[in-house]
This record gives sequence, C-alpha cells and structure tokens, in this order.
Amino acid sequence: MDYDVAVIGGGPAGYVAAIKAAQLGGRAVLFEKDVIGGTCLNRGCIPTKTYVKAAEYLHHIENAKTFGISVDVGSATVDMPRLVAFKDTVVKKLTGGVASLLKSNGVDVVKGEAKLEDENTISSGGKKWTAKNVILCGGSVAGRIPVSGIDHPKVLTSDEILSAREIPRRLAVIGGGVIGCEIATAFKAFGSEVTVVEALPKLVGTMDGEISDSILKTFRKNGIKVLLNARLESVSDKNGSPVLSVGGEGDIESDAVLLSVGRSADITCLGSMSAKIATERGKVIADDHMRTNVKGVFTAGDAVAGAPMLAHAAFKMGEIAASNAMGRDEKTSLKNVPACLYTIPEASSVGLAEEEARARYDISVGKFPMAANGRTLASGEREGFVKVIIEKKYGEILGVHMVGESAAEMISEAAALMDMEITAHEAADIIHPHPTFSEAFMEACADALGRCVHLPAKK
Ligand code: NAD
Repeated sequence: MDYDVAVIGGGPAGYVAAIKAAQLGGRAVLFEKDVIGGTCLNRGCIPTKTYVKAAEYLHHIENAKTFGISVDVGSATVDMPRLVAFKDTVVKKLTGGVASLLKSNGVDVVKGEAKLEDENTISSGGKKWTAKNVILCGGSVAGRIPVSGIDHPKVLTSDEILSAREIPRRLAVIGGGVIGCEIATAFKAFGSEVTVVEALPKLVGTMDGEISDSILKTFRKNGIKVLLNARLESVSDKNGSPVLSVGGEGDIESDAVLLSVGRSADITCLGSMSAKIATERGKVIADDHMRTNVKGVFTAGDAVAGAPMLAHAAFKMGEIAASNAMGRDEKTSLKNVPACLYTIPEASSVGLAEEEARARYDISVGKFPMAANGRTLASGEREGFVKVIIEKKYGEILGVHMVGESAAEMISEAAALMDMEITAHEAADIIHPHPTFSEAFMEACADALGRCVHLPAKK
C-alpha cells in the first residue's frame, strides 16, 4: 500500500482527518479538486463573516450617536470590490495556513478530483494510489429546487453572491434558513432592499422557536421584508431581471436572487463503490466510529447522514475517523454540537429546542433578557435573551438558546457544561465576571431554578 490513510476532500473534515492520521504516525495523502479549506474557508463560514463584520460596522456607525459621537451616517457606504478583496485576503491567509499545516505534518496533497476504484484504491487524473484505509469527506454543494426559470443568470447561490462586486438594489432571498438570514443581514446593511421568501411558518426552522421569533422581529424592524409560508412557484425574466412568482404573494421583482434552500451532499467521490457503500437520501451512512458499511472506508463531514452540516462537527468527525483508521477505538457524540447564526445580533443554540424538550421531559425554562444585562446596555444594545431549559428533577441542562451580542462566543460555555453534565444548580453558582454578556447565562440558569436575583420577583 502507498499510504496508511487516504482522504478524499480537503474541507474541515478532510484536512483535519489527514493531519490527525499523520500525527498518529500514519503515511497520509489528501486529494482536493479545488482549493484546500472546502466550503467553510472558501465559500461559506469565513467569507460570510467578513460580510457580517462589515454590516456590524455600519450598525455601529448608525448607533454612534447614542454615545455622543457625530458621524455622517449617510456617507457610510460599502465599496464592494474592496470588501471582496479583503475577504479574499482573509480566505487566502487561512487556506494557505491549512496548506502549511498539512505540509508540516508530512501529508502529501494531490490536486485533482479523486474517486474510489475499490476500498483500497483511489484514482485521480488517470493515476492510481493505494491505501489501507480511506476517509471520504466530499462535503456538500448548494442545493437547487426544480422550479421553472431557476437557472436565470441572476439567481445566485451563496458561492456566487460572496464574490459579487455590486450591491443589488433589490435582493430576493429564497429560503430563510441560516445562509439566507446571514446574507439578508449583510446586504440589508449594505443598502439593498431585501425580501426573504420562506416556505415554513418561521425563519431558521432548525433553531428554537423564540430565536426564530426574535430574528423575524429584528428583520422586520430593520426593514427586511419577510414572507413566511411562502413557496416559490417560478422565476421569470423582465428586462434581464429575475421576477419571482410566490404562491399567495404575487410577483417579486429583484435585481438579484439568492437561492439558499439547503445544501446537498457531494458523494461523487464514492466512484465505483457507489453501489457498495450504504447511503440514505444521498448521504453516506456512518456509525459512531465514522465507519461506513465497507471495512476500511470511513467518512466525515457534510456528506454523513444525520450529522449537522457544520464545520465544527466536521472537525470532530474527521478526527474520530482518522483515529479509528489508525487503529484506535474512538467514538464521537454529536449530541451537544452548538449552532450559531451570524445575524445582528447573533444567535446560538445547543441541545434541545424548547418544543422538543417539552415533548420529552418535565421541564423548567429560565430566561434572562439582555435588556437587563449591564454590558449589553453599556454597549448601546438591548436586543436578545438567554434561555435555559432544564429537566426539573435533577436540573440537567437540556438546551440553551441565545440571541444577543457575542451569542456565538457565549454558547461554548453552555456546550462545555452540558458535555460535562454540570447541572443548572452548579452552573448558576459559577462566579461570572461582571459586567459581561455571559452573566446572562448564569442568570438564566438561576431563573430556571426560581432563584434569579437580577429579575423582578415572580408572583
Ligand atoms: P437551511 O436548511 O438552514 O435553510 C433552508 C431554508 O430554505 C429552510 O428554511 C427551508 O424551509 C427553505 N426552503 C426550501 N425550499 C424552499 C422554497 N422552495 N421556497 C422557500 N423556501 C424554501 O439551509 P441553508 O441556509 O441553505 O444552509 C445550508 C447548511 O449550511 C445548513 O445545514 C447550515 O447549518 C450550514 N450553514 C451554517 C452556518 C452557520 O453555522 N452559521 C452558516 C451557513 C450555513
């Protein structure tokens, strides 16, 4: 065999798997058809965060008057080519960093599209390599829907809109999920008139209902038009611009459309093994060791059935797959994977949503509004809350949901405590620095136990 471990796909699952295999003493090779770093670094998490940061600057400029700072708000505009150039610099730095990590660990990188020939053979560009174990990390691509006119040139996916050099005057977003909400936030701040078309009765349907309600309220307050229970029926063209026909809502004319209706797994790397490797609705089935049904073939990342399509979940799956490919016996649990939404303000979640928790347990819910948090008020903000859902008898923390400044940073504490099975009684006793946003988590734990000092007494 040429290698101990061959990894197909160099996104967050794949590059971590290759490095881990090398760290464990394996000879590792990584195949990547595009730029190392996958969707997260090149077309997803990182690029969007540069856009949302720009939107935050604009938000702060608008709020500056609250602090007695005089700025000409009207003159604050975004130079899109410069923002795209900045985003590209950040992406290049990070993808270059990953390439050097691979090099420093002695991982061989092959540029080209790779496919499985059999469980030990990978082919790419007419050449073949053999490996004792293979880890499939093909990732995902933007999903499409079979609607007439959807191939209009101005219907873009997140891949394309993150390189657009112009700000559309009118942007329509199909799908009010995570991608749709983050991009709607950014482009609204940049000056677009934004309309979000969502088929479900709520935005970010994967998150707790109160987060969805809060994001909806903020969007509407900021002038983002949101159509719920709205299904796209067709796309037509009017003088080169796309027009959406939406059931019950009529026509929506726009200058650009973002299609953000979910992502589909890319399992083309299964190649000749596609009939042998078990899949479920286009995704690879894996056990808690990240093993597929074929011995020596592992998988990790967005292409794994039932796993969240999140880079941090992919990192963990990649590590576990590589450890097991190198002969260890490690399990992964994706029970407490936090999810973050980078809107303004941010939102984050870990564990069960209130609706799910209520159906399964006898629960108590604690909630602390950010409008009662000193650091939030001192920052000129007041939006958001921290909600903690606990199981009544022992105080086990079942779910934590947040909206507010730095919510994406704050969720790690909740995830860590839940992983360590710390109860709400213990969490409410942890001394948190004051004034911080994170105090709100401790206060919400105390509220779930009926002993929050910084909320009015409940009758
Ligand atoms: P999503 O599943 O979050 O949202 C897609 C939305 O589109 C859903 O609300 C769905 O109801 C709606 N939809 C589907 N068909 C529709 C139609 N015909 N008309 C109107 N609405 C329709 O998917 P996404 O936002 O595309 O994101 C894809 C993946 O990427 C997600 O799994 C997400 O976790 C991940 N992601 C994560 C982050 C983050 O962690 N901050 C950011 C971006 C993407």
